[in-house]
Amino acid sequence: QQTLRLILGDQLHHAHSWFAQVNPSVHYVMMETRSETDYTVHHIQKIAAFFTAMRRFADELRSNGHDVIYFKLNDKNNRQAFATNLAEIISRYGITHFEYQHPDEYRLRRLLEAFTETLTITTAVYDSEHFLCTPEAFSDFAKGSKSLLMENFYREMRRKHHILMRNSLPEGGQWNFDSENRKKLPKGHRPPAPLLFDTDVSEVLTDLAQHPITTMGSIDGKHFIWPTTRAESLQLLAFFTRHCLPLFGTFQDAMAPAEWSLYHSRLSFSMNTKMLSPAEVISTAVSEWEARPEDIGLNQLEGFVRQIVGWREYMRGIYWLKMPEFATLNFFNHKTDLPAFYWTGRTKMHCVRDAVQQSLTQAYAHHIQRLMITGNFALLAGIDPDQVDDWYLGIYIDAIEWVEITNTRGMSQFADGGLIGTKPYVSSAAYIDRMSHYCGTCFYDKSKKTGPRACPFNSLYWNFYDRHREKLSKNPRIGMVYSLWDKMTPNDKSAILEQAAHYLEHLDAL
Ligand code: FAD
Ligand code: SF4
Repeated sequence: QQTLRLILGDQLHHAHSWFAQVNPSVHYVMMETRSETDYTVHHIQKIAAFFTAMRRFADELRSNGHDVIYFKLNDKNNRQAFATNLAEIISRYGITHFEYQHPDEYRLRRLLEAFTETLTITTAVYDSEHFLCTPEAFSDFAKGSKSLLMENFYREMRRKHHILMRNSLPEGGQWNFDSENRKKLPKGHRPPAPLLFDTDVSEVLTDLAQHPITTMGSIDGKHFIWPTTRAESLQLLAFFTRHCLPLFGTFQDAMAPAEWSLYHSRLSFSMNTKMLSPAEVISTAVSEWEARPEDIGLNQLEGFVRQIVGWREYMRGIYWLKMPEFATLNFFNHKTDLPAFYWTGRTKMHCVRDAVQQSLTQAYAHHIQRLMITGNFALLAGIDPDQVDDWYLGIYIDAIEWVEITNTRGMSQFADGGLIGTKPYVSSAAYIDRMSHYCGTCFYDKSKKTGPRACPFNSLYWNFYDRHREKLSKNPRIGMVYSLWDKMTPNDKSAILEQAAHYLEHLDAL
């Protein structure tokens, strides 16, 4: 028997049971294809990161004695799609059995299911052995719960995997330490300089240049900063727990000009490609906290654990529970085109400019920039969620549909009508000013709702609630907003709505 095993670009899991033994009749196949570079407009760094990490993973497998068939983008026999390349190899190598791991993306899962149906040889599907919760276990949770709230799921996961638990009680006596977290960065406070790698990815860029592939963003191909091996990912994890974890929770929602990574881990690419497992990231963080309780408060650790054990696993569960319908949801029926400044960063709004420019230069923005700056603006402006999704799916180094679409369409755009979030994540300038240092040096005036330099977030915020009153006013978490709106004079209200209408007509000029 000759077995062929497919490894996808986000399945770089060194400890998968597949690799426990070297078997000369087992051949692994990895491929760089136009089907993957072209399904959306990706950031150039995202493509470079995936292809470099794949090439380095194939080298590691080979040095451990495994046989790897690798299609580089430019290889002459590369037919640029999974099914055609696989069919070719199966016939060329006389393969009698085909195996793959469950893809994380709906698109690829369907593709491989359809492909295996065309085969006459035997096939098998494996778990990717990465996540803490299976789609089946999530579906059981969903059936057994009155609400799909992340908080309920998170507690169940903590109990089930015995993470930060003392018998049946949460460590420290409470599940959530948010009230101690989420502070603004004090003026003059400098977070640690981020650990950046210095990889030469010019070979991949040269290969890419041979193809008419549209990309966005910029890259320094000689000094690529993202981790592209497991060893580098482990270094980044060690750096994070040593230097950033002590203040992770405190500043997890803070934003400041020129500070692009703050106390964030930047481990999402390493985890989403499975170079690191969520279990080892959590256990490393917990061990560091146990070793340095005087440096790392429980509030810092719990904030971090919640993101991975809670949000990350929860988003994956929702994805498999709700796809493919999820990708079509548009609760508010938003239809406006994404303004051009999302692709260039050319806007007078300081907070948006910084978030977009940073995303174009680093392929990264941290959660609050994604949610409360670019996402917030898109929702207030009524942008078509398909276009918002495309943008987020392309621009970030860590963007893979299962975690991108649930965060974008669900958490950020409320296009799911409140499945993931209990209310829309929108704000006026007041929140942005509370959490950042952008407003003081902005062209716009954070304190004005109307007039020539009034901050667009202010009038658009009220316009959003006014135009969606029918859909939102019954939500008990929003009642306060409508009572404030109703207390304003008719003249003030119409001036705000006129200002918003003017901005909405001239989005590209903002
Ligand atoms: P940290 O702040 O250090 O957090 C630690 C880890 O927790 C992250 O690496 C990530 O694995 C996990 N995490 C934190 N928040 C979330 C969340 N809401 N959902 C899932 N996991 C979470 N994350 C992606 O991995 N890929 C995406 O394509 C993506 N798109 C997003 C789009 C929008 C509109 C929003 C609001 C969020 C998105 N996120 C996405 C979630 C989150 O913003 C990123 O995981 C995080 O910013 C990655 O940076 P970090 O590794 O420094 O995270
Ligand atoms: Fe952003 Fe408005 Fe503040 Fe300017 S004033 S930085 S646009 S919130």
